[in-house]
Amino acid sequence: MGTDAKDILKRSVKTLKGIGDSRAKLFYRLGIYTIEDLITYFPREYENRSNVKKIIDLEDGESCTFEGTIASGVSEFRPRRGLTIYKLLVRDETGTIAVTWFNQHYVKNIFHVGERYLFFGKVSRKFRSFEVQNPVYEKSGTGERKNTCRIVPVYPSTANLTQNMIRNAVSSALELVSGNMEEILPQTVRSKYHLAEINYSLRNIHFPNTEEDFKIARYRLVFEELLLLQMGLLSIKNSFGEDREGIQFKPVDSMEEFIKNLPFQLTNAQRKVFKEIEKDMESKRVMNRLVQGDVGSGKTIVAVMALYKAVKNGYQATMMVPTEILAEQHYRSVNSLLEKYGIKVELLTGSLTKKQKSEILSRVASGEADIVIGTHALIEDDVRYNNLGLVVTDEQHRFGVRQRAALSKKGENPDVLVMTATPIPRTLALILYGDLDISIIDELPPGRKPVKTYAVDESMRERINNFIRKKVAEGRQVYIVCPLVEESEEIEAQSATELADRIARQDFSDLKVGLIHGKMKPKDKDAVMRSFVEGETDILVSTTVIEVGVNVPNATIMVIENAERFGLAQLHQLRGRVGRGEHQSYCILYNNGKTQVASERMKVMEKTNDGFVISEKDLELRGPGEFFGTMQHGIPDLKIANLYKDVDILKKAQEAAINILKEDKLLKKEENRLLRETLICKFKNKLDELSLN
Ligand code: ADP
Ligand code: MG
Repeated sequence: MGTDAKDILKRSVKTLKGIGDSRAKLFYRLGIYTIEDLITYFPREYENRSNVKKIIDLEDGESCTFEGTIASGVSEFRPRRGLTIYKLLVRDETGTIAVTWFNQHYVKNIFHVGERYLFFGKVSRKFRSFEVQNPVYEKSGTGERKNTCRIVPVYPSTANLTQNMIRNAVSSALELVSGNMEEILPQTVRSKYHLAEINYSLRNIHFPNTEEDFKIARYRLVFEELLLLQMGLLSIKNSFGEDREGIQFKPVDSMEEFIKNLPFQLTNAQRKVFKEIEKDMESKRVMNRLVQGDVGSGKTIVAVMALYKAVKNGYQATMMVPTEILAEQHYRSVNSLLEKYGIKVELLTGSLTKKQKSEILSRVASGEADIVIGTHALIEDDVRYNNLGLVVTDEQHRFGVRQRAALSKKGENPDVLVMTATPIPRTLALILYGDLDISIIDELPPGRKPVKTYAVDESMRERINNFIRKKVAEGRQVYIVCPLVEESEEIEAQSATELADRIARQDFSDLKVGLIHGKMKPKDKDAVMRSFVEGETDILVSTTVIEVGVNVPNATIMVIENAERFGLAQLHQLRGRVGRGEHQSYCILYNNGKTQVASERMKVMEKTNDGFVISEKDLELRGPGEFFGTMQHGIPDLKIANLYKDVDILKKAQEAAINILKEDKLLKKEENRLLRETLICKFKNKLDELSLN
């Protein structure tokens, strides 16, 4: 093959016949710029139109293809203003069927008596009288069928771009490279796992002749995608060693005392998980443990116990979190728990003055500071420790693998503890955190009432506002989360400001309203947050900056505007900001989405408070692409594989990936050359983490 097909793949979609500037823009909206983008723009679903019948055999309610001769001219009825019905009769040797269209003026000029056509549509039948409305049609003849008699792809689309336009574009794109696509999978892998050839697979994922062809094609493409994902992740992990020798912490005599003096009794799950952590810490091996627990399950305290143990062993410890708000909050709560034991806690964020920062850094370097809590600022070069023994990252899903590693490189093989609230199916956890041992806090602290969740529309606004007023009068507090704006944080901040303004002046002019967003100065953020924590503000209007970790138990209402724009996992995280105290909490989801999926997702939120159930649903309803897009920065989106449904393929791909890398760690063999190139291209955002270079 060659360079030919490779060049073609990079061509703009505009080089295709029928795609000019304005239509190209519609394709851009779908993220399709090149021929390659088109070819890998996989159908959302398929419509099976391959069931072809004689008219007499058509059944009521059935979607079917039939062929016949136009037996009448097009007649026109106007039952009322704005509605015109066009009707003609179609006949085959077994019977006659009435075909009608609503308001499709052009059909008058298309059909002529005596011509033969194929139709596909949902038939209604009353005794011997047949009718079909607004069918798809195609002239009979020798050419290849596109819209009838076959399985037809249905693509995710956008306004003004019809299925036919996409189908035609994909079909011409396939035509251009047909037979010339290069095989990136090594032959050995293909034969071991019975993987179809690439040209066949691409053709049949779009235009399968049979269901069997589709299955074979999909299996191959899913396998390839998961294999690449696995290889990428594995080689990222490979760049950090495993099973290294580390610090062997000693049991701490005062541990039980410390636990007894905590402001509450630990749950059994917290005890169990801490036991696992202690065991790791006391072993010779470096600890690499992930603590998973739903929002509000009390992960922080488990981390604090580990911090205490490390410090009592004479080591320093550090905890990294994704946002300044969370860093401040953790700093406050950790400090209030540990100060009385003479443990010195520091807060390191990007918003310190030069002077403050250098003072803190020198206390950290000298060993005067025992614990440092902070944001990404913790992994900057100027941070040096005296003897770092334990590294904790909270909300791990917000960090990359490399940031975690960068932090642990600050010490000499310190123990590593990572915490995440994103409960993901276990198989997935094994892929994403394959190098970690996993502990699960599977129990909430006692007395928690599940958050009552309601999906509502605009018509409920007044009632909800009254409800908010009532709860505030009772002394509670409220979050209102602004619509997610994907274009930029700038615009998001702007719309948050407008919303806060409206709320403060119109809806709740009698209440104290605060505003927080990502574009504010850290100092201002802190002031706003503090005033909310201290109960001076009644309502906090916020962007998703409060999504992770924030803990204000007196806040009991979470209102989310345009909830349909958020992923389920994200909604769950946001909802997790309430229901953290003794009072009944509520989550109000304003749903302006009109789609089936949107309302299904709202129903999931109403029905369950269980993060595991929600994340599985999220995978199922949105697909892993979006799931990862927001969760795992830098990991390429999956275009076809569904990590939820394709677990079996995943296991095979995982096995294949391990074997390939075992034999050829850097993928230097000729048979792996294209695999390597593709991998480097796919993981370009995380290139410095791949161990292939
Ligand atoms: P997350 O797991 O979401 O990080 P946090 O650690 O922030 O949860 O804990 C949520 C809230 O529950 C905090 O207010 C914390 O003080 C409280 N909490 C944690 N463990 C317990 C417990 N065993 N009993 C009662 N309250 C607890
Ligand atoms: Mg937390």
